[in-house]
Amino acid sequence: MNQIRSLSVKLNDGHFMPLLGIGTSAPDQVPKSEVEKAIKIAIDVGYRHIDSAYLYQNEEEIGQAIRKKIDSGTVTRQDIFCTSKLWSTFLRPELVQTALEKSLKKLQLSYVNLYIIHFPVPLKPGEDLYPKDMHGKFLFDTVDLLTTWEALEKCKDAGLTKSIGVSNFNRKQLEMILNKPGLKYKPVCNQVECHPYHNQSKLLEFCKSKNIALIAYGALGSDSNKEWVTKNNPVLLEDPVLKAIAEKHRRTPAQVALRYQLQRDVVVLAKSFDEKRIKENFQVFGFRLTPEDMKTLDGLNRNMRYFEAAGFSDHQNNPFLDEY
Ligand code: NAP
Repeated sequence: MNQIRSLSVKLNDGHFMPLLGIGTSAPDQVPKSEVEKAIKIAIDVGYRHIDSAYLYQNEEEIGQAIRKKIDSGTVTRQDIFCTSKLWSTFLRPELVQTALEKSLKKLQLSYVNLYIIHFPVPLKPGEDLYPKDMHGKFLFDTVDLLTTWEALEKCKDAGLTKSIGVSNFNRKQLEMILNKPGLKYKPVCNQVECHPYHNQSKLLEFCKSKNIALIAYGALGSDSNKEWVTKNNPVLLEDPVLKAIAEKHRRTPAQVALRYQLQRDVVVLAKSFDEKRIKENFQVFGFRLTPEDMKTLDGLNRNMRYFEAAGFSDHQNNPFLDEY
């Protein structure tokens, strides 16, 4: 059995996805070289799921780390589950495959394991990741996302990605894909913000009913130094209830926040570029939260997002406009 199959979930297309992934998005001021170091450490520690994206502008460094770990014999390509994401400026169907090929080149891979639509709001195509007008307003594009989805299906058929999915889609947007006439492949996943303060219980229930894996980002409460993260929100890992459960199990709040997701069948991402915390976050398979702990953690939900879609908020596709 290759290393992906252990501690993995079987996706609706038959491929396996490791339950715990390392996140790679960092605030702009963090040097890109940090991610290469972190991914090498993560692979040594045992992580096999790496979450990247064109938007993060660090696919070259991630590719270098994977390549070095393959060349040194630590892992094979088959052991690694690597995700990339189609950014909003490439949602026109004729741009999709080229965008994926750009990511593959940077990652030094011939295929990714998962390619997902990053965000359902189309932006004006071009070099600019965040195209804006002279007043600082986003320049949106008009794209039928069903045609984007068909282009993703073609990428899967061409062998450029093993699986295809979405990110930041609400229920209505998922249904739109699921109900597409002539749908060839269902999304295997929906990657969304998910943590005890915003546990996505309704979206999770819906995804489970359709055999779509929910992947949690921001599971540790993210990082308020990031551009898209709201400031002055309560800090998840300092929550007294979370801390008390952690103390009871002689674990850290981060480990409890990650374990919480695993026990509700959510695939979970944890970003750290710090060796000690990369190791700490991987130690989540050797303990179990009780049903009471799970209920208590469920009780922390307050539908509070760390990520805001500032500037996208008035766009009709903004997924955060709907309750779920
Ligand atoms: P996160 O994983 O919830 O939190 C990361 C923050 O927590 C960092 O500041 C990290 O700092 C800190 N941290 C990590 N382990 C810790 C520990 N054990 N104790 C205390 N602090 C700890 O946030 P995220 O990076 O926003 O989300 C995770 C990943 O999901 C991203 O990296 C990205 O790959 C993906 N993502 C996807 C989307 C999307 O739209 N699809 C959006 C956001 C994120 P150190 O690095 O210093 O340890």
